[in-house]
Amino acid sequence: MQLLKDEMWTRKTTVKITMLGRKMITEESSIVKKIQMSDTREKEIIQALENKDGLAWKEDGVAYMEGRIYVPNNKKLREEILKEHYDPADIEHPGQHRMLELLKRTYWWPGLKEDIKKYIQECLKCQQNKVQHQQKADKLHPLEILKGPWQEISINMIGPLPSSNGMDAILVIVN
Ligand SMILES: [Zn+2]
Repeated sequence: MQLLKDEMWTRKTTVKITMLGRKMITEESSIVKKIQMSDTREKEIIQALENKDGLAWKEDGVAYMEGRIYVPNNKKLREEILKEHYDPADIEHPGQHRMLELLKRTYWWPGLKEDIKKYIQECLKCQQNKVQHQQKADKLHPLEILKGPWQEISINMIGPLPSSNGMDAILVIVN
């Protein structure tokens, strides 16, 4: 009985995700066309498709993995997708975590996480930003050298301390 229930649930969710997949196809048609034309599937997706356990399926020449579009092993195509998510107009570039979140909503391929990491590390704009930040942080502000005594006096009250002879604080005066 439980088995039957699980089976029904799996079917229901699979149908729902397939419908979602159709919506993606109309929305991102140019990328999807390229995916349909590319036929360099890796063993990970081929095996998943052969398993027929509901995790992966094919539709209109597109392979899906857990409801995400599998992007074939085509460097140019994967880079186009990375770029599209990374560098739209003027917004600040997303970090690795955010980028993965964005991409995972629609796409999947083996090594996606590593590819994102590499892609971001190679971004010149981000490298320059990083250098600028470091330079700003590295600047020190040394204390001015004073010309004589009594030009600057610092007073520091330290306490409360364990009392000694009824006193529980120290006053430090530096000239
Ligand atoms: Zn960047």
